[in-house]
Amino acid sequence: MVAPPLMPIQVGKDIDAWCTRCRLDTTHIIVSLKADGLSPKRAECTSCHGQHNYRPPKMSTETAKASRGTGVRSRKAMAVAAAQQMADVTAEAMPAGHKPTKKPPVVEVSAPPAPKKKATRKRAGPKLTPSERSKARAAAAAAVAWGERLEGADVSSGRKYSMRETYAVGDIIDHPRFGVGFVVTVTEPQKFEILFEDGVRVMAMGR
Ligand SMILES: [Zn+2]
Repeated sequence: MVAPPLMPIQVGKDIDAWCTRCRLDTTHIIVSLKADGLSPKRAECTSCHGQHNYRPPKMSTETAKASRGTGVRSRKAMAVAAAQQMADVTAEAMPAGHKPTKKPPVVEVSAPPAPKKKATRKRAGPKLTPSERSKARAAAAAAVAWGERLEGADVSSGRKYSMRETYAVGDIIDHPRFGVGFVVTVTEPQKFEILFEDGVRVMAMGR
């Protein structure tokens, strides 16, 4: 059984896929669909621009396998992580104009405890699968982080992306499709993670 994707599967749309040339999970552009029109047949890697048959990302299949094993426990852990992340995002999204006063705001110790159990049971909005929820959370966090990076960044120093180049953490990249990105991690000599407005992507370099 395959969960319905967030984005409709269409030719020209982005999709995460395993690139046989980069040997990485990279963003691909769907080139053609299978006869059923529901799954990609061929995809083009946005890192090396190679076209090949679509292969699902290795990372997500491994994660799916791992989470299946731990069942309920991992769901609980995910919910806790989600709550923490939401709190972080909210804190980051606070207006920067808030000036700290000399007196710290008094925390109301006498305040009645919030009815937490009822609040967590209440479910608003469409039902999302855990992976959809984590994708949505990641996208929201990325947009906030990207906006913060953009402030004060010298975007004109952005380099055009090429997989033959090498990049370091902090480099600004001007990608023809994804726009301005900031290199956030270099995990391996030929692989780096870059924060774009719509999320973090893994890309190849130094090939
Ligand atoms: Zn590739």
